[in-house]
Amino acid sequence: MGVVKFRVAICGGGIGGLAHAYALSKYSDISVNIYESTAKFSPFGAGIGVRPRAWNVLCALGLGEEMSKITSVVPTNTQVHSFSFRKSDQLNGYTFGNMFSRGPLLTFHRGQFQEILLQHISPSCRIHHSKRLKSYSQGKHGGPIRLSFEDGTHATCDILVGADGIKSAVRRCLVREQLQLDRDNGRTSNEQARPAYDDYISWSGSVAYRALIPVERLKGDYDKGLPTLPTTPTMYCGKDVHMIVYPVSQGKEVNLALFHFQPHLRGTPYPGPWSKEVHESELFDIAHFESWEPEVRQWLKHIRRPIKWAIHTVTDLPTFVSDRVVLLGDAAHSSSPHQGTGAGQAIEDAYFLAELLGDPRTVLSTLSQTLKIYDKFRRPWTQEKGARAMANGRYFALHYDGFDFLHADTATAAKKLHELSALMIDEWKWCWTTTVEESLKEALSQLQDA
Ligand SMILES: Cc1cc2nc3c(=O)[nH]c(=O)nc-3n(C[C@H](O)[C@H](O)[C@H](O)COP(=O)(O)OP(=O)(O)OC[C@H]3O[C@@H](n4cnc5c(N)ncnc54)[C@H](O)[C@@H]3O)c2cc1C
Repeated sequence: MGVVKFRVAICGGGIGGLAHAYALSKYSDISVNIYESTAKFSPFGAGIGVRPRAWNVLCALGLGEEMSKITSVVPTNTQVHSFSFRKSDQLNGYTFGNMFSRGPLLTFHRGQFQEILLQHISPSCRIHHSKRLKSYSQGKHGGPIRLSFEDGTHATCDILVGADGIKSAVRRCLVREQLQLDRDNGRTSNEQARPAYDDYISWSGSVAYRALIPVERLKGDYDKGLPTLPTTPTMYCGKDVHMIVYPVSQGKEVNLALFHFQPHLRGTPYPGPWSKEVHESELFDIAHFESWEPEVRQWLKHIRRPIKWAIHTVTDLPTFVSDRVVLLGDAAHSSSPHQGTGAGQAIEDAYFLAELLGDPRTVLSTLSQTLKIYDKFRRPWTQEKGARAMANGRYFALHYDGFDFLHADTATAAKKLHELSALMIDEWKWCWTTTVEESLKEALSQLQDA
């Protein structure tokens, strides 16, 4: 490594942190250290779907070819049938909507995705495992940022990137730092507007049961014609309960997530661990699946030991940045997974930030201005998309306009479902009608020389 213009510390080696390290790899004048709390990267994980907007970023990063090898879907820019919505809480279920998009939903196994990122990160990037960040401190007048880890060790850097997920330690410190700054500057009226750290995390009222089903396990059922492995991701919708199914691992496994939405519990504390393995019998307690279409029961029958996941979100932060500390991915804007774009948004942040940092106009003395530009573009964008994902979550659970789908007559329900599918698609179409490059170009034009 030649002359180093600044040292980046990335806290968290999830999809966002690794994508950022990879995106910075092409800038030989930026040194990168990743601090990851786990002892090693795990190959386990569930399915991750990437939509055209984030796929274009992966291609811009030069990962298109490698990633194409680990998906069973053909990446294309043409109009494709990318989602089917079924009314499933009745014995004779039916498809009530089909989403067509410019480019498909590309589905991956999270572990394989992570492996590719790890293979391509510059060898000069150092990855430190078993380093759980406790806090950071940055001087008011520049100087290195001091990182403190739970094992009692320390490190320093010039810029800290918090990619440490929804329970982010970086965000906790950043929120406190901003509060203190307000007090120091006599802006005490802002205290109400800046809630404490814990108030930025909220339970959505939804839990997801996630599982991967080996296709081998389905073989016997194929002969009976059930369930047919959907080539197009399918959402089975019912009152308060919905289920998404799509193939991953080049068609060797099926990714399944069953959601249970209890709107009256939204914003209440979740009783229990956010994520835990449960017995599959628990699935049958959440709805009367005997009265659902048979295909749904057939899928549920194949689930073993699902992971139950209480869906929490990060409510809108007033900033993603505090001087030379910046948040990306779930740490900044974890949203509900109802558009399958959390990882995609983390990849977008990672790329966007790397392009701004790598620009020759960004040097040590202009870092904080550059981060403000990142905040100006990425914060409104990601927060608005989070609201759209929440809206889709309600729609998939058949909450629409106070309408009672269960007891309505068939013709009226079909008319309402038609309206609903148009709304779902409308909320989602930003994923293939917009590109990151448009806003990145504008952001780069706002960088200033030192
Ligand atoms: C049910 C469900 C389905 C989903 N489906 C999709 C989908 O289809 N498509 C999609 O795009 N997204 C999906 N998502 C969202 C996606 O998984 C996340 O948005 C994405 O993983 C966020 O990446 P991240 O790197 O920001 O955070 P994370 O993946 O959470 O990574 C954070 C990393 O930081 C580490 N860490 C945490 N604390 C510390 C600390 N104090 N110090 C050091 N390291 C730390 C963690 O060990 C971890 O490695 C889904 C989410 C759920 C719950």
